[in-house]
Amino acid sequence: MPRAKNASFATPSTHQSAATAGTTSVAVIGAGMSGVTCARTLAQAGYSVTLFDKSRGVGGRMSTRQSAFGNFDHGTQYFTVRDPRFTQALATTPAAAKRWSANTVRVLDDTGHVLSTHNRTSDSHWVGAPGMNGLLKAWASPLADNSIAGSQVHLQSRVTLLNKQEGQWTLNIEVSDGEHTSTAQASGFDQVVLAIPSDQAQTLLRDSALMPTWQTQLGDVVVDPCWTLMLAYPKASQPGLAHLGPQWNVARSTHHRISWMARESSKPGRTSIERWTVQANPEWSREHINDAPERVVAKLIKAFAEVTGIRAEPGHAVAHRWLYAQTRTPLGSSHLFDKRQGLGLCGDWCLGNRVENAFVSGLELALDMVQPAKAVSPAKAVKAKKPAKPATS
Ligand SMILES: Cc1cc2nc3c(=O)[nH]c(=O)nc-3n(C[C@H](O)[C@H](O)[C@H](O)COP(=O)(O)OP(=O)(O)OC[C@H]3O[C@@H](n4cnc5c(N)ncnc54)[C@H](O)[C@@H]3O)c2cc1C
Repeated sequence: MPRAKNASFATPSTHQSAATAGTTSVAVIGAGMSGVTCARTLAQAGYSVTLFDKSRGVGGRMSTRQSAFGNFDHGTQYFTVRDPRFTQALATTPAAAKRWSANTVRVLDDTGHVLSTHNRTSDSHWVGAPGMNGLLKAWASPLADNSIAGSQVHLQSRVTLLNKQEGQWTLNIEVSDGEHTSTAQASGFDQVVLAIPSDQAQTLLRDSALMPTWQTQLGDVVVDPCWTLMLAYPKASQPGLAHLGPQWNVARSTHHRISWMARESSKPGRTSIERWTVQANPEWSREHINDAPERVVAKLIKAFAEVTGIRAEPGHAVAHRWLYAQTRTPLGSSHLFDKRQGLGLCGDWCLGNRVENAFVSGLELALDMVQPAKAVSPAKAVKAKKPAKPATS
């Protein structure tokens, strides 16, 4: 995907949106699954779409971390596909998502003994290619390279305030070049979509003195944090050596610290150096949310060794803290949209804790915006059961 088009954000500046006369201009904030899906659907319907994200790349929690020993999918581990519209969307970019032969998931106790085994052959596990972020890179590229006319992508652009005057939205933005931060404004939008985690949406709405009626609904949403550990064992990948540790590639655990382990190197198209991603459970993550990363690394390596029996020294051990990882209590409807204000909200947190929930949320919001006169509101048509299933996919 081309680099962010930050050039229009001189300091201080006013960026006019790219809308041509008669085209509805929309700012979509957040380039994770929900935001990219919403932005693409609107752009395909003829809207002029500008997508903003504070990060250096698209993907959100479907992200990929580079290391000297290969990549880690340190957010989403895999996703499942049950909605036929998701199947259709994946078929548009077949090289960007692959099946991962990890359908058998063991549940292990504190010392690695198998408590149960689940083999869900009917529910394929999918991963982005060449890394988890590959899928959204592919989906966002027509927006970034202007092959859908009128669309733009601005990365390293954190939206800090929304302001509506005379029917048009203006966004205050902090633009980063990696070293320095400057401020800018983007204006001329008819509608704004927030495709960001519920807590961050709440803060942005509150700071912008917007939507007191939504504050209560958003306040009911609960999202768990997650500490994630990335481990690489380059010495275990010498020619002629079997791989390190267990024969299985994925497992859940009832250990008091960790809930999930996956061998990254077993995913399709990844490099073969032995690499593991380990997720702490929500309770432990919450309790240790402000711990120093080095301390978290040490504690999680110990837990990993107890469950897997791998006691070798890793060549690479890094922890990442997700403040908003997986939804525990969702909103219960696919999205929020105030047509009069021209303001919509979407994200996995509307429906659950899965990538597919984010896809459906972004899609339903876009459909609601494009076809507001439909008899049945998609917000009512797609309902989630509360609470969300606690497990990965
Ligand atoms: C550790 C972990 C493991 C997971 N495992 C799985 C799994 O195995 N299977 C599964 O299906 N799901 C899993 N999930 C959940 C899945 O990642 C999410 O459901 C999905 O990616 C959410 O997409 P989203 O678009 O709603 O939000 P996000 O992906 O969070 O996207 C929001 C985007 O908004 C941007 N943003 C936020 N605030 C601003 C702002 N003010 N200005 C500009 N940009 C902003 C962020 O940078 C981000 O890119 C996991 C998540 C985590 C963290």
